[in-house]
Amino acid sequence: TTVVALRETVPGERRVALTPEVAKKLKARGADIVIEPGMGQGAYFADAAYAGCEAAADARSALARADVLLRVQPPSLEEIATLKEGAVVIAHLQPHLAPERTKALRDRRITAFAMELLPRTTRAQAMDVLSSQAAVAGYKAVLIAAEAAPKFFPMLTTAAGTIRPSKVLVVGAGVAGLQAIATARRLGAQVEGFDVRPETKEQIESLGAKFLDLGVSAAGSGGYARELTAEEREQQQRALAEQLKAFDVVVTTAAVPGRKAPRIISAAMVAGMKAGAVIVDIAAETGGNVEGTEAGRTVVSANGVSIIGTTNLPASAPVHASEMYARNLYNFLELSLKDGALTLDWNDELIAKTCLTHAGEIRHEATKALVG
Ligand code: NAD
Repeated sequence: TTVVALRETVPGERRVALTPEVAKKLKARGADIVIEPGMGQGAYFADAAYAGCEAAADARSALARADVLLRVQPPSLEEIATLKEGAVVIAHLQPHLAPERTKALRDRRITAFAMELLPRTTRAQAMDVLSSQAAVAGYKAVLIAAEAAPKFFPMLTTAAGTIRPSKVLVVGAGVAGLQAIATARRLGAQVEGFDVRPETKEQIESLGAKFLDLGVSAAGSGGYARELTAEEREQQQRALAEQLKAFDVVVTTAAVPGRKAPRIISAAMVAGMKAGAVIVDIAAETGGNVEGTEAGRTVVSANGVSIIGTTNLPASAPVHASEMYARNLYNFLELSLKDGALTLDWNDELIAKTCLTHAGEIRHEATKALVG
C-alpha cells in the first residue's frame, strides 16, 4: 500500500497530514510512503525528517501513485481527477459545503473518508480530528482575546495598587469551550461558562470556572446539543443580555452539528457591553455566534466592543495541531492496515459511518440527499 501526503494548498493552511513520527509508524505497518518535497514545511518538518519515505518529483506524480492519500483540507477537483480509480482519501471533506467535490469523488470511484463524519464513540476518541483540532482552537482563541484586550487577565497586587482580574465568559462548553476555559484560567482570569447540555455544569466547575445558569437545557442525540426552540432562544437571550454587561472578554464556541452556528449574541446585546470588551467568535466561519461577526476580520461596534471573527485557528499552532491530526489519521488507518495490505472492514461502524463515497456511490445519507 502506497500512502501519499502532499503539501496543503489552501491559503493559510500550515498543518500537515503526515508527521515524521506517524510516517515511521505507517512504515512499521508495512506501508510505502511517498511525499511531495517540502510537504512538512508549514509545520517545520523537513523532508529529511521523513526517514525512509520517498520524495516524489512533484505533487502530480505522487498523487498518481497513491493507494491512500492523506490530507488536512479537502483535495481539489484536479487532484481527485489525478488519483487512481479506487484510491482511498482520508481528510476533512466538508461534505455539506461542496456537492461538486462529493460528486467527483463518487464518479472517480474514490473511497473517501470524511473525518468529520467519524462517530463520537469511546473507541473513536483517538481518531477524532474534530476534538483534537477544537482543542487547539479553544486555546488559541483565548490567547487572541488576551492579546486584543486592553486589560490584564490575572489579578495583580503591585506597588501601584491592586489590579482586578478580567472577567471572561465562554459560550459553549464542548471541546473548544472547555479548552478555552482552562486556558483563560491558567492566565488568571475569573472565568464563567455556559452550555445548553446540562452535563457541562460539572465539567465547567471542575476547571475552576463558574457555570452561568441561563435556565435553558437542550441536550440532543449522540451527546450533542439540539437546536433551541424560539421560546428557549428568547429565554437564553434575555438572561444573557443582563449578564454580558459584566464581562471583559467573551469567547464563543457554540455549534450544532450540520447546521449554521446558533446566533446567541445579538447586536443589541453587544451594544450593552462595556467599551473595550473583546469577543472572539470561533464559530465565525459557520456564520458566527455573534451578530455582526465577519470571518477573518475584526469589527468594532459603535460602543467600542471588538468582535474578532477567527478562521482556521488550528492552522495557527501547526506543530501540535499536525501532531494530533496525523496521530488521529494513523489510529484510523490502523483499523485497516496490516502487513502492508489495506483491508476495509465494512462491518466496523467507524469505517462504514466515516465513509462519504465508495465504489461509485455516496454512502452518507444526508450528503446523498443534498447531492442527489
Ligand atoms: P460542537 O462543536 O458541536 O458544539 C460546541 C458546543 O456548543 C457544544 O458543547 C454544544 O452543546 C454547545 N451549544 C450548541 N448550541 C448552544 C447554544 N444555543 N447555547 C450554548 N451552547 C450551545 O461540540 P463538540 O465540542 O464537538 O462536542 C460536543 C460533545 O461531544 C461534548 O460532550 C464532547 O465531550 C462530546 N464528545 C465526545 C467524544 C467521544 O466520546 N468520542 C468525542 C468528542 C466530543
